[in-house]
Amino acid sequence: MKREFVVIGLGRFGGSIVKELVDQDAYVMAIDISPAKVDEFAAIATQAVAADTTDEIALKSLGIQNFEHVIVAIGENIQASILTSLILKEIGVPKITVKAQNDYHEKVLVKIGADRVVRPERDMGIRVANNIVSNNILDYLDLSDEHSIAEIRANEKIAGHSLVELNIRASYGVNIVAIKRGSNIYISPKADERIENDDILIIIGSDFDIHNFEKRALH
Ligand code: ATP
Repeated sequence: MKREFVVIGLGRFGGSIVKELVDQDAYVMAIDISPAKVDEFAAIATQAVAADTTDEIALKSLGIQNFEHVIVAIGENIQASILTSLILKEIGVPKITVKAQNDYHEKVLVKIGADRVVRPERDMGIRVANNIVSNNILDYLDLSDEHSIAEIRANEKIAGHSLVELNIRASYGVNIVAIKRGSNIYISPKADERIENDDILIIIGSDFDIHNFEKRALH
């Protein structure tokens, strides 16, 4: 059975979510207040509908409460984003993910009970900055304010050593949760696994420890 999603707001962010979900073979109802946007997505989404999602009756008549997950990607109109999220919670949508514009918007969404709040511009800014600061940090994903998962490229300084020799957890306080080597991925690598040059280490830890590991172990 296909998974079923609703995406509200068909700007660049919402639009790319619709396309990706459809590519992954999901049933996607795409909604926007602008008929021009709806026309644009008519051939892409499973179903494209023009509606003002701050109107509870309109939302209910679309049967939104029957979908497992609704993504609210309304951007600049913060009031519409908050009101839409509130209605979705009230009518019992099991899971809502909402794009926030700023800290204030994020706080209100959390209070309302949004299951997940995303800040794509801020998060991508953090990822790009980490990559700029260190060429070895390929990607960076926030888990909380202080903890992250990072993809770090191994170099000749640690290549040839096993995880137990490097004693990474005790020395740096980070854990290697997986190693990507070419097209292979080794999840929870064993202590005697030897790192190879250009391996991509997926590590988890505090931001401080991740940066400390990158600075001290690889330079
Ligand atoms: P992006 O950065 O993703 O391109 P954005 O953050 O600039 O988008 P907007 O373009 O302001 O966001 O909003 C995204 C979409 O949400 C727009 O296409 C807009 O028409 C739609 N939208 C705004 N208000 C409502 C509403 N009340 N009901 C449904 N859709 C709405």
